[in-house]
Amino acid sequence: MAADSPSASHAIVIRGVSKSFGAVTALEGIDLSIRKGEFFSLLGPSGSGKTTLMRIIAGFEQPDKGSLMIDGEEMAGVPPHLRPVNMMFQSYALFPHLTVAGNIAFGLRQQRLGRPAIEARTAEMLKLVQLEALAGRKPHQLSGGQRQRVALARALARGPKVLLLDEPLGALDKRLRQETQAELKRIQLSTGTTFVVVTHDQEEAMALSDRMAIMMDGKIIQVDAPGTVYDRPANRQVAAFVGDLNQFPARVEAGPDGVLLASAKGIPGKIAIAGSAVPQTEECWLVLRPEHMRLAALADGSADHWMACRVEDRAHLGAQVAYRLCLPDGRIVLAQAPAQAPEASQMAGAAILVGFRAADARVLR
Ligand code: ADP
Ligand code: MG
Repeated sequence: MAADSPSASHAIVIRGVSKSFGAVTALEGIDLSIRKGEFFSLLGPSGSGKTTLMRIIAGFEQPDKGSLMIDGEEMAGVPPHLRPVNMMFQSYALFPHLTVAGNIAFGLRQQRLGRPAIEARTAEMLKLVQLEALAGRKPHQLSGGQRQRVALARALARGPKVLLLDEPLGALDKRLRQETQAELKRIQLSTGTTFVVVTHDQEEAMALSDRMAIMMDGKIIQVDAPGTVYDRPANRQVAAFVGDLNQFPARVEAGPDGVLLASAKGIPGKIAIAGSAVPQTEECWLVLRPEHMRLAALADGSADHWMACRVEDRAHLGAQVAYRLCLPDGRIVLAQAPAQAPEASQMAGAAILVGFRAADARVLR
């Protein structure tokens, strides 16, 4: 098989998959290829079809239409336990009466491996998740983070080609979640397993993923690396889902040299947008990230377009100061400045200018 054919380089190839539950269309025309060894996220709001897609990959649901290949094999008619995948559930579903080691060994016993092989593999997994010292404990004697690691070790013990993780860090508090993200990445790298993570948390998906699929209303809207999704979102919905966003209704017209000129409500002048594919006449939006907004007392060269505003609210977030600014027409603009920057000293009530460079603006549908 050629190295560039989808089934050779991809762990998962999904073609035209649709799934309905009665009148609810959970998935519609899903095409998706996930590369071997990739850390891949399915990101989208609640109800967008993420879990359904994961359950189809695992074999717990059958698609109404379309095909699924895992590791080069067609999966139609293959039951879950014969697929080269394993799923780690959000609840972890550990066996309360078994020890840490017993939980990890459980799937290996079902495989009818010999006792020495089971013990060796269990020890290897305990080491991988750094729980050697807790091998004899029961789940109720563990912290949330430790239980998560047991579930991960148990799911990896049989060496699946693909590990499916549904909201793997959802049960942990924020700080622990950040630590565990790094841990999850380390384990994924050291095993070389393809990880597919379902999450509704965009920061988590951005922190973990090599690439991610943005799902909305049962469809995949965009598949890209996190930075690309953030900087070049496929549409306004995606842009707003992966980060804070300022949005202005806009119209575009052709300018010189293939540049588009956007006119946006509340912004003086025409904004020259390079490399945009939005057709003229269509309703569209000019969007700007808060970190691209500039604050100044006087219009200077740090921005191409300036607007008068009043500081409505300011929040010191540590490294950054986040501003809510009010334009004369009442529209709110979000801005961010590094806490050390002079403009970060603006206080609520101050009348100032907020500006942006045309190069940072995007026009989206
Ligand atoms: P997500 O994981 O993104 O929150 P789901 O895949 O769980 O989304 O659900 C997608 C849609 O399908 C939702 O509208 C949900 O209510 C519906 N759905 C999922 N599973 C079932 C089911 N077993 N029976 C009926 N509707 C379902
Ligand atoms: Mg879900």
